[in-house]
Amino acid sequence: RTVYVNGDYLPETEARVSIFDRGFLMADGVYEVTSVLGAKLIDFDGHAVRLARSLSELDMKQPMSKEELLEVHRELVKRNEIDEGLVYLQITRGSDGDRDFVFPDPETTEPTVVMFTQSKPGLADSPAARKGAKVISIEDIRWGRRDIKTVQLLYPSMGKMMAKKAGCDDAWMVEDGFVTEGTSNNAYIVKGNKIITRALSNDILHGITRAAVLRLAREAQMQVEERNFTIEEAKEADEAFTTSASAFVMPVVEIDGVALGDGTPGKVAKRMREIYIEEMRKAAV
Ligand code: PLP
Repeated sequence: RTVYVNGDYLPETEARVSIFDRGFLMADGVYEVTSVLGAKLIDFDGHAVRLARSLSELDMKQPMSKEELLEVHRELVKRNEIDEGLVYLQITRGSDGDRDFVFPDPETTEPTVVMFTQSKPGLADSPAARKGAKVISIEDIRWGRRDIKTVQLLYPSMGKMMAKKAGCDDAWMVEDGFVTEGTSNNAYIVKGNKIITRALSNDILHGITRAAVLRLAREAQMQVEERNFTIEEAKEADEAFTTSASAFVMPVVEIDGVALGDGTPGKVAKRMREIYIEEMRKAAV
């Protein structure tokens, strides 16, 4: 694979980052994942806008323009012949060669920019989405700025492992009884024709897929309610699903061992998955 590091395209085995990089020592960095369908980028604009916001919330400078970022994304897709898959982008604060809690001087310290691709055939026509996901609920013990897409993913990763150990696919995180989000996706329940999902705040990541799915649902005359819901309400819902750039709309068929509906992907989730993939393909760059 060819990867991108700080201005250079390199074979992955030759890419190097300093051991003093604050991304490595302190998880001081942000990232984006943009999916690729038909060798084109899905919702690149949305990801670029959120990236700028994440950087600004952490007082990091934008090392590259949106146009430059798009060019590198496209070049990696081309060089690695990605038809279906994703582009991962990470920007960390870099380092001035020491370990210190104080941020290094941004005038003299360049952020570290890393990008690589992952090929994922079957992203659109997904066996996992046909089956639907089983989730467990776990306590949300992450920090209070989940709206910033930082690389501190240890707890979400542990949550995913707890789910695997329980024979499930993912975990939904719960705070004060209310579902916040999945380990790497936003969470929804469906009652009748109404789609319910937590409103945006610092408690959850402002999913790029979430924004598109809610827009498309409203355009399709479906009811959307942005409000908190409890894990108990979720277990009694007609259906449930999650959204993320890397799995699009993923039906959820079981929560903590309780089957939703008849335990197969629900019709609203399936429809939203179809609409999302169709519309986003058309708008891909
Ligand atoms: N919530 C969390 C915690 C995530 O990690 C992600 C994606 O990585 C999402 C939600 C979904 O966001 P997006 O649709 O932008 O991929």
